[in-house]
Amino acid sequence: MQSDLDYIKEQLNRLEERMLKELDSRKEFIHSLHPEQQDSARNLIHYLALRNEDIRELQDLLHVYGLSSLASSESHIHRQLQAISERLGHTYKEEEIDICSFPFSKLKMGEKSRLLFGQKKETYIPYVMVTFDSGFANDYAMIKNLLQNGMNVARINCAHDDEATWSKMINQLKKACTATGLDCKIYMDLAGPKIRTNLLGKGKNKGRVKIHEGQLVWLAETRGDFEKGEVIISPNEEGIIPMLKKGDRVFIDDGLIRCVVEKIKKDRVGIRVIRISSSKGQIKAEKGINFPDTTLQISSLTEFDKKCLPFICENADLIGYSFVKSKEDIRQLRAELKKLGDNYPNLILKIETPDAVNNLPSLLLEGMKERALGLMIARGDLAVEIGFERMGEIQEEILWICEAAHIPVVWATQVLESLHKVGMATRSEITDAGHAALAECVMINKGEYTIEVMETLRDIVQRASTHRIKKRFTFRTLKIAERFFNSESKSL
Ligand code: PEP
Repeated sequence: MQSDLDYIKEQLNRLEERMLKELDSRKEFIHSLHPEQQDSARNLIHYLALRNEDIRELQDLLHVYGLSSLASSESHIHRQLQAISERLGHTYKEEEIDICSFPFSKLKMGEKSRLLFGQKKETYIPYVMVTFDSGFANDYAMIKNLLQNGMNVARINCAHDDEATWSKMINQLKKACTATGLDCKIYMDLAGPKIRTNLLGKGKNKGRVKIHEGQLVWLAETRGDFEKGEVIISPNEEGIIPMLKKGDRVFIDDGLIRCVVEKIKKDRVGIRVIRISSSKGQIKAEKGINFPDTTLQISSLTEFDKKCLPFICENADLIGYSFVKSKEDIRQLRAELKKLGDNYPNLILKIETPDAVNNLPSLLLEGMKERALGLMIARGDLAVEIGFERMGEIQEEILWICEAAHIPVVWATQVLESLHKVGMATRSEITDAGHAALAECVMINKGEYTIEVMETLRDIVQRASTHRIKKRFTFRTLKIAERFFNSESKSL
C-alpha cells in the first residue's frame, strides 16, 4: 500500500511537471512581456496551473506532516513546492531551482508598488488614495491636511467636473506638496462607458423623481410620444435599449433600485421596479445603471475618454481604465496613448464587470507588457454586476491572482462608508477595513469625514498588520496569553 509520504511526493512531482509544461508552451509569449514583468508572469502561469485542480486532500496531508500546505504562497508558488519536495528528500540541480522565492517576490512587489505609488514609510501599511471632491479645487487647506494625514495618491475621476476644475485641484495639490515637502501621485480615472440616468419625463427639471415598488418605468432614448407623468429614463449611451431582453435585470444607483425588463417595444423598454433599498424611493439624474444580465457591445474606451487623454498624459502619474474587459481593450488604449508619446502614465486596470473577472489572467498578461501595472478592485460597480453575495469570494480571488503576478492592488469603494458619510462606522465596515490591509493601496471615496476615515483606517490596518501579512497569519505575542501566564493562571 502506498504510504502518505509517497502519495505526497507523487502529487508534488505531478503538479510540478504540470506547472513546467504550462509554462513551457507559453515561453515565447512570456518573452514578449516587459523584461521586469517576466519572472512575475512565470509565477502567475505556475499559480494558475496549480489552481486548475482541486488539491485540498493533498493540502490536508501536507499539514498533517508538518509541511507547508501551499496556502499562502501565491507570490512564489513553484519555489515553495520545490522547497517541500526538498524536505522530502528530492534534490534539484542548481539550474532547476526557481529564482522566484519568497524574498524575491517580496522585493518585486515592493519595487512595483513604489513604481506606481511612490515611497512610503511603513512597509505593512497600505498606500492611501483619496478621491477628490469638486470642492477640493478651492480648498488648499483640506488638501494640505490630507497630505499631512498620509494621502499618497490623489484620485481625480474624469466622470465628474471638467479640465478647468481638474487643473485647479492639481495646482492646489502641487502647492501643498511643495509646502509640506511630501510626495503625492496623481491618479486619473477614465470615465469609461458608465451608463447613467438622464431623466426625460417626470422629474426632469428637479433632477429626481419619486418611484415605488411595482411601478413600470421606461427606458428610452428620446421623450417621443410618452404620456405626461410617465417616468422615462434615458441611458446616456446610445444603442443600449435594443440590447435588452425580457427578464434582464436592471439596477439603478449602485443597486439600490432593482428592476426587471418586462415590456419590449420598438423604441422603448418597460422595466418593473422590484425592490427599492432606500427610504427615499426616488431615481436621481446622473446615477449609475447596471445591466448584469445583458451583453453590452460597447467599447470600454469612449470618445469622451479619448478627449481626456491629452490632459491625463500631461498631468497624471497613473491612469485608471474603467470597465476594461479584454486584452483588446488594453491594446486599444495603449495605441491611443502612444499617439501622444511613449512616456504615458502607468496603467491601473479597474475590475468592475464579470467579463473583467473572467478574463483576469489575460488582462494582467497583456498589461504586463508595460513596466508598471496595477489593478483596482472597483467594488462599487463590481458588486452590482456580479451580485453582492459573490463579492467576498471574488475580491479574494482577484487578490490571490494579483499576488501571483506581483501586481499591486487598489482596494476601492465603500471603505468605512458610514463613517465617511455620517461620522460613525458600522462593525462590519471595521472588519472590511482590516481586510483592506491585504491590498497595496486603499481608495477612499468622496465624503464628509475624510480625515477621520484616514485616521481610523490607519489604526485598523496597523493592528491588522501585526497579525497577518497578506494571507499569512503571523504570531506576535498575544496579550490574552501573556495576561493568562502572568496573572490569571496563578489563581487556577
Ligand atoms: C467603483 O465602482 O468601485 C469605482 C471605483 O468606480 P467609479 O469610477 O465609479 O468610482
